[in-house]
This record gives sequence, structure tokens and C-alpha cells, in this order.
Amino acid sequence: MDTIAIKTVIIGGGPSGANAAKYLASAKEDVLLIEKNLSFDKPCGGGLFLKAFDEFDIPKTIISKVVKTIDIVSPKLKKVSIDISNYPLAIVHRQNFDKTLRELAVEAGAKFLNAKVIRISTKPEGVKILARKLDGTEITINAKYAIAADGVNSQTRWQLLKEYPNRVLTYYANIQEKTSSSCQFWFGDDISPKHYSWIFPHHNGINIGLVANNKYKMKYFYNNFLKKSKIVASIPKAKGYFIPHWKRTTLYKDNVFYVGDSASLVLPFTYEGIYYALKSGQLAAEAIIKDDPLLYEKSWNSLYLKKFKFLRTLQNIFLQNDWWVNKMVQLYQHPKFQTAVIAYWSGSRKPAGTLKTLYKIIRSLIKYN
Ligand SMILES: Cc1cc2nc3c(=O)[nH]c(=O)nc-3n(C[C@H](O)[C@H](O)[C@H](O)COP(=O)(O)OP(=O)(O)OC[C@H]3O[C@@H](n4cnc5c(N)ncnc54)[C@H](O)[C@@H]3O)c2cc1C
Repeated sequence: MDTIAIKTVIIGGGPSGANAAKYLASAKEDVLLIEKNLSFDKPCGGGLFLKAFDEFDIPKTIISKVVKTIDIVSPKLKKVSIDISNYPLAIVHRQNFDKTLRELAVEAGAKFLNAKVIRISTKPEGVKILARKLDGTEITINAKYAIAADGVNSQTRWQLLKEYPNRVLTYYANIQEKTSSSCQFWFGDDISPKHYSWIFPHHNGINIGLVANNKYKMKYFYNNFLKKSKIVASIPKAKGYFIPHWKRTTLYKDNVFYVGDSASLVLPFTYEGIYYALKSGQLAAEAIIKDDPLLYEKSWNSLYLKKFKFLRTLQNIFLQNDWWVNKMVQLYQHPKFQTAVIAYWSGSRKPAGTLKTLYKIIRSLIKYN
């Protein structure tokens, strides 16, 4: 059996792992990226703010569509369209996006292995990993650090911390014969209580789905959603897949960094995970480059903890039932509210100022409406 010694091994070549590998390799760090499935097309709407492409230096040529309108649909089918041309969303095909990110990492100098990590253990001086290639041969990897970037079903987290990332189910389908020029968010107790259902443009048609708070009722919600939205005449077959439901959790322990979905770093309310996967990969890489592992959690918290807590609070308040959702949709009719929310959500406005504006508007509107 082959044995490799390396400073950092990364388990998973999705956005978080591939981006971490790129940042490490660009700093001339010794890094090995391991991905088990090169043709994996991650179940995902593929929507992220366009500005992320400049921030992470990702070629814009891989963008399938650019979206400049968001539609919010209330339980009573009241629709508010929001112009987001100042902060457009890009839609990517995940198979292509993830492949490009891995290629960027390899171009920067990362080593790459197409294999499945089957076992990981930690010891005081580092981590030990057993990986199996497609032909069945096994490789042992000894590393100082590991980055767990293996997604919402993270086996690394399960094997080392005896828990999965905190998560809820989604139920989704791709429909090829339809198009949508906006990203639509539908709310209501009959289609996705406490969360939302969506219709997003996709690289090839549209992607529809819902976040389900009750796995036994997800087909029921899905059928309701399709009937209500009238998006297609017959109901297409859907599939289930977990999405993280953020709660504060272990980001670093015993030489292992947990990034992206493996640490449930998905923004509450919007369930936006691609950006935070890329960002957490970058922050973990920076901590490794400085040989200061605790820096990762410190940087993450100083950048995002407040925002994640705030969005979770808003989700708990506004999505608790139809009455509150209707209040929220009323708020969205207010142009100042729209601008403040979109600027805050996209990370383009400083949190402190935006929070003040939001609180002021919410207070006054709830009082007087
Ligand atoms: C239905 C749905 C819709 C979504 N829509 C959006 C959206 O529109 N916008 C958005 O921002 N977010 C969206 N998300 C969330 C987003 O998909 C995730 O947050 C994001 O993919 C997380 O990236 P990651 O790199 O942490 O994990 P992943 O993208 O899951 O990547 C993990 C990688 O690890 C590999 N891997 C796993 N185990 C092993 C192993 N043992 N050995 C080797 N490799 C392994 C996997 O093959 C995979 O390539 C959606 C999620 C779902 C379920």
C-alpha cells in the first residue's frame, strides 16, 4: 500500500475544498485535494452573487445565467418583484463549476487524487487517512492538517465528532422545458412551513424545490407547491437531499478544519451555501498558511457570526406562520426595506448601518400597518 506524507490533506473537491486547495497552493503550501466523484452534479440551485467571481478570481465564462430580479410570493399569491441589478445573481451548473474550481487548484500547484476517503483518525502530531481509488487500491496519507470539505453528509465529521452537520431535507426537481428570468421565493404553511419553496433558472431549464421541516409531509408540500405555482401541468418526479440548517458548531478540532456544509455554514433563511463554502475554505487556508489554526474560527466569527444569528432570528420571526410571512411581504413592498435587505444579504453594506435601518423600518411598519 502506498503512503503519502503531506502538510495538508483536503477531503472533498466541492467549492469549499477546491477553494481551500487553491489558496493553499497559491501560497506554495504542500496540499493534496481528494475527490471521490469527478462527475458529481451537486443537487443545488447554483445561485450565488455575481461579485463572488471577482472576489475569488473565478472565470465568469462558466456562468450559465445572470439574474437581476427576485420575486417574493406570499401565501395568498401576492407577488413582489425586487430589482437586484445592483447585486445580480449568477447561476452556475454545479458539475462544471466544481470541476473548474478543482482545475484552478491544480493549476495553482495543488496535488490531486481521485479517491474516496474511507477512514480518518487523529493523533497529537496530525491526522491519518485511508483512501480508496476507483481500481480498489488503497493509500495511506499522513498529514499535519486535514480539511473536512465533504459536504452535508460529512463522514469526517461523523467519524471524528460522532455527529452529522445540523440539517434539514430539501425536495427538488429540474425541469428542462421551462424557463424563468427571475429567482422566485414562495412562502406559505401549505408549501414550506418555516422555510420556502423556490423556482430558479437553471443551466438547463429551471430548478424547483422546497426546504421541508417535516420529511413525512414533503411530497404533500411539493404537490401543493406545484399545483399552486402552476409551473407545469403534470407533477415531475423529485428527489430528496439534505441541506445544512445552521447552528454554531465545531469549526476546528484536533488538527481538522470543518468547512462549508460539513460545518453547516449555510446562511439561515436564504439557504445560501456556495459563497460561504468558498469563503470558509479560504479562511481555513489562511489559518494553515499562518500556522495558527485558531485563527480560522476567529476570522469566521468576526466576519459572519452576527449575520448568521441575525438571519436566523429573522427566519424564526417572519417564517413562523402565514400571518408573519404576509407581514414580511408587506415590508418588501417598501423600497427602502428592499434596498437595505438586498444590500445586507449580498454583503455589500456594512452590517451595523444596515441593521439599524432594518430594525427602524421593521419597527415602524409593524407598528403602523
Ligand atoms: C436542493 C439544494 C439547492 C441548493 N441551492 C443553492 C443555491 O442556489 N445557492 C447556494 O448558495 N447554495 C445552494 N445550496 C447549498 C450548496 O449546494 C452547498 O452549501 C454547497 O455545495 C456546499 O459546498 P461544500 O464544498 O461544502 O460541499 P459539497 O458541494 O457537497 O462538496 C463536497 C464534495 O466532497 C466530496 N466527498 C464527499 N465525501 C467524500 C469522501 N469520503 N472522499 C472524497 N470526496 C468526498 C463530494 O463528492 C463533493 O464533491 C443548495 C443545496 C441543496 C441541497
